[in-house]
Amino acid sequence: MAKTKTAAKKTKTTGKKTAGKKYVYFFGKGKSEGKASMKELLGGKGANLAEMASIGIPVPAGLTISTEVCEYYYKHGHKKPAELDKQIDANIKKLEKFMGAKFGDPSNPLLVSVRSGAAVSMPGMMNTVLNLGINDDVVKGLIAKTGNERMGWDSYRRFINMFGDVCMGVDHEHFEEELSRIKKKYNRALDTNLTTEELKEVVDAYKKVYKKHVGSEFPTDARTQLSHAIDAVITSWEIPRAVAYRRINKLSGLKGTAVNVQAMVFGNMGENSGTGVDFTRNPADGSNEFYGEYLLNAQGEDVVAGIRTPHPLSDLKKQMPGIYKELDAIRHKLEKHYKDMQDVEFTIQEGTLYMLQTRTGKRTGLAAVKIAADMVKEKMISDKTALQRIEGDHLNQLLFPIFDLKSKAAAVSENRCVAKGLPAGPGAAYGQVSFTADDAVKVARSGKKVILVRKETSPEDVSGMWAAEAILTSTGGMTSHAAVVARGWGKCCVVGCGALEIDYKNRQIKVGSTTIKEHDMISVDGITGEVLLGKVETSASPVVLGILEGDKEALKNPICQMFRDVMKWSDKYRKIKVRTNADSPKDATNAVLFGAEGIGLTRTEHMFFEGDRIWAVREMILSGDQAGREKALEKLLPYQRQDFEGIFKAMNGFPVTIRLLDPPLHEFLPNDEAGQMEMAKRLKTTPEAVKAKVAALHEMNPMLGHRGCRLSITYPEICRMQVTAIMEAACNVAKQKVKVMPEIMIPLIGTKAEYDILEKIVREVAEEVIKAKGVKVKYMVGTMMEIPRATLVADTVAEKAEFFSFGTNDLTQMTFGYSRDDIGSFLQEYLEAKVLKVDPFASIDQEGVGQLVKLGVEKGRSARKDLKCGVCGEHGGDPDSVKFFAKAGLNYVSCSPFRVPIARLAAAQAALSN
Ligand code: PEP
Ligand code: MG
Repeated sequence: MAKTKTAAKKTKTTGKKTAGKKYVYFFGKGKSEGKASMKELLGGKGANLAEMASIGIPVPAGLTISTEVCEYYYKHGHKKPAELDKQIDANIKKLEKFMGAKFGDPSNPLLVSVRSGAAVSMPGMMNTVLNLGINDDVVKGLIAKTGNERMGWDSYRRFINMFGDVCMGVDHEHFEEELSRIKKKYNRALDTNLTTEELKEVVDAYKKVYKKHVGSEFPTDARTQLSHAIDAVITSWEIPRAVAYRRINKLSGLKGTAVNVQAMVFGNMGENSGTGVDFTRNPADGSNEFYGEYLLNAQGEDVVAGIRTPHPLSDLKKQMPGIYKELDAIRHKLEKHYKDMQDVEFTIQEGTLYMLQTRTGKRTGLAAVKIAADMVKEKMISDKTALQRIEGDHLNQLLFPIFDLKSKAAAVSENRCVAKGLPAGPGAAYGQVSFTADDAVKVARSGKKVILVRKETSPEDVSGMWAAEAILTSTGGMTSHAAVVARGWGKCCVVGCGALEIDYKNRQIKVGSTTIKEHDMISVDGITGEVLLGKVETSASPVVLGILEGDKEALKNPICQMFRDVMKWSDKYRKIKVRTNADSPKDATNAVLFGAEGIGLTRTEHMFFEGDRIWAVREMILSGDQAGREKALEKLLPYQRQDFEGIFKAMNGFPVTIRLLDPPLHEFLPNDEAGQMEMAKRLKTTPEAVKAKVAALHEMNPMLGHRGCRLSITYPEICRMQVTAIMEAACNVAKQKVKVMPEIMIPLIGTKAEYDILEKIVREVAEEVIKAKGVKVKYMVGTMMEIPRATLVADTVAEKAEFFSFGTNDLTQMTFGYSRDDIGSFLQEYLEAKVLKVDPFASIDQEGVGQLVKLGVEKGRSARKDLKCGVCGEHGGDPDSVKFFAKAGLNYVSCSPFRVPIARLAAAQAALSN
């Protein structure tokens, strides 16, 4: 049976006319109707083909069917515009004239390729058909025209396979089986060893496969073939793997895919022909070198699909020096023109070079930062442009782990390094071997790390690739599907690891004398390409070592230096400040080293669990009266004071927001029997009393229960102890000449009254401490905005509150009514059903929750003009959210220490996009 996933539904044209609308655009030397800026309409591929043809780069001519056709098709019940066919026919005529050949004419045939291409590149997601227009007669004409019989039959068999697979949904494996059978019959190791006669046999076998699975004869009419291929491209826009790719990569708002129909040039015309995929700079580490690979006597899909392992481009220099020189000149011309690293495809047809595609090349984070920084130095782009090119995730990848040197050395000396492939994606990872995408997803869901191991990956594997820590393939080059996708995601990836004999059936890998079974642990090095048995520990990046640990050698590392350049440029342009969420002096110190300008949130409760202090907390909770609680809190006070002193010192002069106790008290009690027994013993009470307390504190909805300011209102002594600790610490360090700026924050208020009651206590205690210590310390009192009601009455709250900090975690939870802890049970389905575009706990819901943030700021500032407003929810480290908060007029965002660099960059991008 034909597969449904790629089977083209026959698309129909509608009777409705949109008079005069142009849907088809021609491109060819001096005749291009499009240009690079028309990506939305022509797709990236179409727009760049038009542009290349215009600037004098040799491009085979063709036509682009605009993305509006795809858009129309899905908006009009799967019908295409009525005038489309006429426009296609007219442009095919033009192409025929341009090429001096005729579509479907055996005496002088024109063959075309049909490719997809949306505005944003989606590698491997959409379908490509080559050699279209061929049939039993045309193949003869093609042979007569080219004088190359083998190439004619080779092109024909490739076309039947591709057309059957891509346009009619016949599984590629069915064709592959026939090919293997014939190769075996004639004892041919490679496809290229097949003779012309043998290829004819392949064509016959393929036709039978086609008929068996499609149920009709292979179509011989070129125009019919073309219609099927166009339909296949358009319908492939909505196939699950394309939809999944767009979801994972947050690609929304695209019209659809364009369809490019381009005159064929042949890389399979012998040893003076070939095809390649190259990058104008190294996409793995960003070095300014021409980088890529090629295959002689091959067509494009041979390189990309990873069926044959290609040669490095440096070999072409020796094999075809003239072509290499020409290609290198085009490389420079394209970089100069596009001012960015390009990923190009080319074909050599009997010693003549043609460019088939150029696009902005995908790159690792490391390469993205290096290329941007280098291009600033080369004066090709400005620092502003460089900042706009670097994504938060790119920067994040500089902070990626690499293998711990000792652990790696041990693995090597134990002969655990069993194979080496091509290093295609950054970082280092370990995990359990999975052979299928489904299994990888399952293992990852169970909380274990997984490495997806495949002979080659295809777009159907994307969910498993996404779930895996690393991807490992036995075939394919640096531009294979696995490599391109992993690099785009910044995922560790090793490809073309030929020593691995992967046996899907028995779920094992044989490598030399070793057998690796499914779910065995392996480690993969994305920098060297090594594959190691067992777990190799990972360790921090040079940036982390240099900047956080102060390692002098690491500081000299070029990666560390360019990281600092990017940070310097970011700070030059950004307006919004970046603080950190830190609960310990160590975190605070790291954050400052990463450029934090204050602490936006210290969650004091995190200090309650350290060392012995949990017993004082439990004693406080267990106490039946205020006196008992106060006695226990007294024990806690020195610990808290000491923590705050450490934090104030680390932040030396930067403001520090400290939040009063927030979580419900039951979180501090042991739930298990043994823990409760121990607590009873320690606190000299009975296990029954402990159990009773646990039961008494049980709540149906603790997130909506006795927590936040509600705790301090019912137990003001907690608030008093905490404020005493904060202010004593502040006074103590101020005496040591450390500048301090405490900001005392009341959590989870929903009413002005809650704020007012607690603010009074805070100020009373603070003033008492200041008086007793005899030091002048300035402090502020403010509140969190994390209950929707608080944002609605923000003007009244701001009469007294000096600052607001938006707790967007709780604000999201309470606005949507989605539990922060349980959203995982339905989030995936919600994303797939497009109920949600993104996880609202990861990226702020600008439309809803964002409105409450804006409202809170506006109302608050209507009562207090200089109200300081910040964000301390997880969204403070998400680039899209940071941009939103910057536009909403917040003074700062606060995020975890390792997100601080990303927030600085995003803040600069927000300023630059204004
Ligand atoms: C918030 O709710 O956004 C917040 C920062 O507080 P927490 O995550 O501690 O509830
Ligand atoms: Mg909160």
